[in-house]
Amino acid sequence: MSLRKHVVSTNNLRVGLIGDPVAHSYSPRFQQAALDALGIPARYELWYTPGNQLIERVRMLCNKNYLGANVTIPHKEAVLPLVDKVDPLAERIGAVNTIVHHDAYLHGYNTDAQGLLNALHSHGLGTLLQDGTVSLKGYTAVLLGAGGAARAAAFALASAGVARLIILNRHLERAQLLAAEVQKYYDEPVFSLNDPDFLIPQPSAIIINSTPVGMHEPANTRGQGNHKLDSGSREDESPLPAEILARFSPDTFVYDMIYNPTQTRLLTQASIMGLRCANGLSMLLHQGALSFTIWTGRPAPLDVMSKALML
Ligand code: NAP
Repeated sequence: MSLRKHVVSTNNLRVGLIGDPVAHSYSPRFQQAALDALGIPARYELWYTPGNQLIERVRMLCNKNYLGANVTIPHKEAVLPLVDKVDPLAERIGAVNTIVHHDAYLHGYNTDAQGLLNALHSHGLGTLLQDGTVSLKGYTAVLLGAGGAARAAAFALASAGVARLIILNRHLERAQLLAAEVQKYYDEPVFSLNDPDFLIPQPSAIIINSTPVGMHEPANTRGQGNHKLDSGSREDESPLPAEILARFSPDTFVYDMIYNPTQTRLLTQASIMGLRCANGLSMLLHQGALSFTIWTGRPAPLDVMSKALML
């Protein structure tokens, strides 16, 4: 495995997060705890990278001291052509969130997809299969958003065998495009909508917010770099009107990919209605754990990582 080779050559390894902004990220907190717990002599760093420095930053990972990187907003798509090999799932999703430096090549992966499924399973949804994948057979998934995270979620949910997938997005064309792409690989129906009023509630539903609506935008990230979070999103808003949420049956599970704040408006409304729900910290943990294993070849110490995240 690449780590052994790296460890022999140096005791000053580096791995980090490439994005703009990165200051708000929780990744160093739990990735460093995991590296320390396993005695891996590496530092997890924040690599603030505006678009015009992306090529240079990715090239830096070819240095023998670098294990690899996580990639976040807004570079997950832009890094695809910058790595030597892209994993087929990441290719299909069109986004890479993990790069590993292995045998002088840079390999790109997407761990958001499996990270979401592992997170849902950690909240008691679906069945863990012998091959480590999660089955969500029988569920209807309602996906809010059609951006990068929603793309990973849509392919993950389809691969987990949901009975139907409904993609609801502000711009209908984007939802239609994603629905058509997923449908190519999937036998069950995939619908696209842009008006929540058209949502017909189904039993055994999982509602997943993959829009930034309800997210806290830390003051210290405003104006940092070129990328701004969507100006239309506000912390006190929900991506799904309460009257629509109220139509869903009591066995509905609501998952918000947002983890800051830990209790979004959507989750508050779901709790008031007695629905089961969870925030995106579990997805952050599981996608990070998968990245950790890709970089190090070692099982991620999930207990250490979740403790560091105060889960
Ligand atoms: P993105 O690519 O920019 O996509 C944003 C999506 O949200 C688009 O579908 C966009 O709709 C929609 N949207 C944005 N502002 C909106 C508004 N005001 N009203 C309605 N819809 C709006 O972003 P992303 O990378 O997918 O990230 C989305 C969210 O997921 C972020 O909050 C991110 O932090 C979170 N996330 C969490 C994890 C985790 O581990 N927990 C992992 C990945 C992402 P249009 O297409 O109509 O513009």
